[in-house]
Amino acid sequence: MLNVQTGQCGLCAHFGEDHQTDQKLVQIRASHKADEKFVDACGLPKHASLKLMVTPISSCIGFEPAKAN
Ligand code: SF4
Repeated sequence: MLNVQTGQCGLCAHFGEDHQTDQKLVQIRASHKADEKFVDACGLPKHASLKLMVTPISSCIGFEPAKAN
């Protein structure tokens, strides 16, 4: 398992943005831990045309903290 830090995709509001209530995303935000193989889409509008897929420990300066579900 990976440890997910503040500022990384797994704790960002844009990570899997169109399915925020997915239990895998909820668990990552609650536990700050994620499977090494997990990837999801970045929903940041600036990245939309790129269809960017990121890991929970990726990051960028567009980070916005996800709200707790
Ligand atoms: S790439 Fe940036 S905006 Fe997208 S999910 Fe990761 S931290 Fe958030």
